[in-house]
Amino acid sequence: MYTISHYIDAASYEGTPGATQPVVNPSTGQRQAEVKMANKDDVDAAIAAAAKAQPAWAALNPQRRARIIGEWIRLIHANMDDLARTLSSEHGKTFNDAKGDILRGVDVLEFCLGAPHQLKGEFSSEVGAGLDTFSLRQPLGVVAGITPFNFPAMIPLWKAGPALACGNGFVLKPSERDPSVPVRLAELFVEAGGPAGIFNVVHGGKEAVDAILDSEVVQAVAFVGSTPIAQYIYERCAATGKRSQCFGGAKNHAIVLPDADIEAAADALVGAAFGSAGERCMALSVVVPVGEETAGKLREAIVAKMTTLKVGHSLDPEADYGPLVSAQARDRVVSLIDEGVEAGAELVSDGRTLDLSNASFEGASLADGYFVGPTFFDHVKASMSIYTEEIFGPVLCMVRAETIEEAAAYPSEHHYGNGVAIFTRSGGAARDFFTSVNVGMVGVNVPIPVPIAYHTFGGWKDSSFGDLNQHGPDAFRFYTKTKTVTTRWPDECEVGPDFTMPIMK
Ligand code: NAD
Repeated sequence: MYTISHYIDAASYEGTPGATQPVVNPSTGQRQAEVKMANKDDVDAAIAAAAKAQPAWAALNPQRRARIIGEWIRLIHANMDDLARTLSSEHGKTFNDAKGDILRGVDVLEFCLGAPHQLKGEFSSEVGAGLDTFSLRQPLGVVAGITPFNFPAMIPLWKAGPALACGNGFVLKPSERDPSVPVRLAELFVEAGGPAGIFNVVHGGKEAVDAILDSEVVQAVAFVGSTPIAQYIYERCAATGKRSQCFGGAKNHAIVLPDADIEAAADALVGAAFGSAGERCMALSVVVPVGEETAGKLREAIVAKMTTLKVGHSLDPEADYGPLVSAQARDRVVSLIDEGVEAGAELVSDGRTLDLSNASFEGASLADGYFVGPTFFDHVKASMSIYTEEIFGPVLCMVRAETIEEAAAYPSEHHYGNGVAIFTRSGGAARDFFTSVNVGMVGVNVPIPVPIAYHTFGGWKDSSFGDLNQHGPDAFRFYTKTKTVTTRWPDECEVGPDFTMPIMK
């Protein structure tokens, strides 16, 4: 048992005595740590540290800030195995998947090495007689990130990297369910030469979040998590004049056309539906084959591949995926499976029957772990809760369609609009689909189309509130404000005031 404290002003911060919450290893159900839960005073201490340190950080030229980020990247690589092991033991994703979580975050740090280029302003000469205009991108001041449990390295890095590269002070409120890696990332930033107070971490739940939202010092909030909380934060930020970008839940569809390579599509679907126990905002959780023949072949291929999947301890190198993050998450997934059965969907493969009560890994019993086996429903209807809700578990739903138009309407009309994929050999059909579908990120024969770091990531509809995406050039816009300067250097003073609106001559 160990205690995970806040990290403020480059030091472990005990904070207000009292509130803690257990951090559990989801593979075993055993409590392994206690995390401190911040109250308003603790959050205010983090914000104050960031506010104190930020002006000097902003005054450092962007290239020197980028060099610190470069060293940070090196240290993250040097600590990769430790970080991945800790992440895996708190989240429950496999060790290799945990490395992927960290590396997709590092990708964005690498993009941030180009901060001097991203922060270059614009200049227009001779906009009028003797007049020049230029724009500067300046940091906002103190900004906050509030992040979910399912990517405890990637998403904190997506928020921290650009915020810091732009010259802001940063307060991170990571998920209280897997809080160790975010603290370690902040420590490594300081080891890399980042100044004290620039990257602070406070743990907690609603009380800590509300303290961030109520702060008059915090200028912007970047949130990722479930849709109800995303909407709550977006509304609170609007009410208090804070800039915000709030990314929410998802229900990602895969459309499979009759001309698709069925084996390849089934491989992609099984990986994208069940990888990380389905706890990814880009998990493919609905498949829509076009035509009964396609549906039949695809169903057979999926079932065959599912039978070989191994569910086990997150550190078991043979496990394809591990447990859900908590007992509550497991119980929610199981109850949604119950609802699907009651609603009349055909349960082809029932993950509720997975029994690991006699299993163990390196001496640790899995009997109390939060496992759900791979689950596959066929003949799912749009009215069922397994279709309308984000299950966030290892559950794949097949919805059958007769035509491509009918299939394409499903993702377009769903209230979530994060990601979608189409499997086909037809360039024309794919093009029609990706130009018209009402979803933010599209894969063509690519199951999890998470854009690379120099493009931007963001869903549509209930998957995102705010107008700028995460990472890529949008992040530099989000974390800076534009100042536009118009200059004139006359040789002689002009005489007399002018009372008309200045126009360019
Ligand atoms: P969550 O909404 O429960 O928690 C997210 C953050 O909000 C955490 O830091 C948590 O402490 C805080 N929080 C929780 N309840 C709160 C409340 N009542 N008031 C204020 N703050 C609160 O989400 P989660 O379960 O940690 O993460 C899973 C969700 O995140 C899924 O819906 C998933 O789709 C989504 N997600 C979205 C993206 C994306 O980019 N769209 C990426 C990853 C995850």
